[in-house]
Amino acid sequence: MHDLVIDRARIVDGLGTPAYEGSLAVAGGRIAAVSRDPAGRELGSAARRVDGGSGLVLAPGIVDIHTHYDAQLTWDPFATPSSALGVTTVVIGNCGFTIAPCRPAHRDLTVRNLTHVEGMSLEALREGIAWDFETYPEYLASLERRGMVPNVASFLGHSSLRTWVLGEEATRRAASDTEIAHMRAVLVEALRAGAVGFATSTAEQHNGENGVPMPSRLADEREMLALTGALGEVGRGVFMLTKGMTSTIPWLEKIAAGNGRPVMIAAMFIDPGDPERVFRELGEIGQARARGRELWAQVGCFPLGMEFTLRHPYPLEALLAWRPALEAHDEARFRAVLADPEFRRAIKREAGERGVPNRFSDKQWDHLTVMEVRRPEHRPLVGRTIGELAREAGRDPFDCFLDLGLADDLDTLFDVRLFNTDEARVSELLRHPDAAIALSDAGAHLSFLCDAGFGLHLFGHWARERGDLTLEQAVQSVTSRVANAYRIPDRGRLTAGAWADLILFDPATVGRGARRRVNDLPTGASRLDTPAVGLHGTWVNGVRTVDERGALIRDCGRPGRLLREFAA
Ligand SMILES: [Zn+2]
Repeated sequence: MHDLVIDRARIVDGLGTPAYEGSLAVAGGRIAAVSRDPAGRELGSAARRVDGGSGLVLAPGIVDIHTHYDAQLTWDPFATPSSALGVTTVVIGNCGFTIAPCRPAHRDLTVRNLTHVEGMSLEALREGIAWDFETYPEYLASLERRGMVPNVASFLGHSSLRTWVLGEEATRRAASDTEIAHMRAVLVEALRAGAVGFATSTAEQHNGENGVPMPSRLADEREMLALTGALGEVGRGVFMLTKGMTSTIPWLEKIAAGNGRPVMIAAMFIDPGDPERVFRELGEIGQARARGRELWAQVGCFPLGMEFTLRHPYPLEALLAWRPALEAHDEARFRAVLADPEFRRAIKREAGERGVPNRFSDKQWDHLTVMEVRRPEHRPLVGRTIGELAREAGRDPFDCFLDLGLADDLDTLFDVRLFNTDEARVSELLRHPDAAIALSDAGAHLSFLCDAGFGLHLFGHWARERGDLTLEQAVQSVTSRVANAYRIPDRGRLTAGAWADLILFDPATVGRGARRRVNDLPTGASRLDTPAVGLHGTWVNGVRTVDERGALIRDCGRPGRLLREFAA
């Protein structure tokens, strides 16, 4: 007898097979059989039956390869909100920002950097993280002991690795040969213990407290080649990188040629400052693939947008000319910098330069909106864009923007759509054969954005509403395709023998709901949330985690597994 049979469902198997009405049986956490008989007669009896009602789609659970739940998973086994949004596997440690390995002396530094670079609440991190580990294998063991609702695969993060070996010097200098050898040995140990790969960032906007660059940005060529070479030595693992302006595709191809491992390149956006760049780079990726190197472009299906105030102006921090503002330690000094005409001349000049990837440019003023103001006299500005206001006033938009922020006690809440605003071009990215759809950044930037529902949005917006992809293609792109890229065995597909990570949803309504603000982080810190729409069930390793009304089952246990075994 099976544990579960789901019948009369439209089966979308995650492998691109045209959908058909069928049924599926689960036993012992795995898919026992998939049948083209809607009534599932040959599947036999089951302890439990779920009726797909001939209209609901049964698909593999979504695999989110770009999350930052490293800290949150130590206090929240659900990886909220991903578990409620059809995600059954999360990959953590992206961009190289992990919390392991970490010595007790560096815990506070690590937490303060995470607060800055990933926009996490300092109080929530200080209160929430259970520091019952130091080494990377101890961290994995601690996650496993505590248990989790989704499956988790974890990168070893370059910034943590550097801090482990170089201490506070990690943000200041290149490593010596001895230090590089030490880092490589720790990485090899982590890969053997079950890390999914090695993640790093060379992105200019990745700064820790007071604008100090994140440690990985100080690595030189020798260090990068030695560490990525460890993946080749072990014969396992993905090299994941969030790329800044110095990391070119030919350089990444050289790494892939050296270690023979896949390279996952984030974050490939349509940048209004240079909309063709991502397509030039995709061309280079295609050429590298033709030479046998497995390079992937990680793309997203949302406009990259965020809410921010001048008190924490993350979108502006990638501008080199913003540095004096980043380094201003108190409010009076910060205000003086923002008002300084020389500072303003420099940022205007830089924002007008073309060819620098993925940062704020002067093409974005019509996508920068005033959301909330502090002072009553500014209320008429709510809902207007800085582009409009500047044209009306005949002023430079940067002056309008900074003057408003200064006059409004630095508390004006802005919303900016930075990248991926042109849907016709984004559609080309989503359909590209070398693209991996992800970039949810779930677990990070909690007060600015919530894109954890990217998979449901892909099914609802890009497949149903726009028709850029078929539902079969959309499902495949966030299930088996990314699971294959990460060498995650037996997941992301509805085939006999695969793990029973399943979602059941209504294709006529599926999507993500409206943004709302909730206060459920440790110490009551707030985050943005978007509820699922049209989701009628989720199972992880055969255990139901979301009920027929789309609500999380709080007492579902912790069915997720820490994934430690990866194909070569
Ligand atoms: Zn990231």
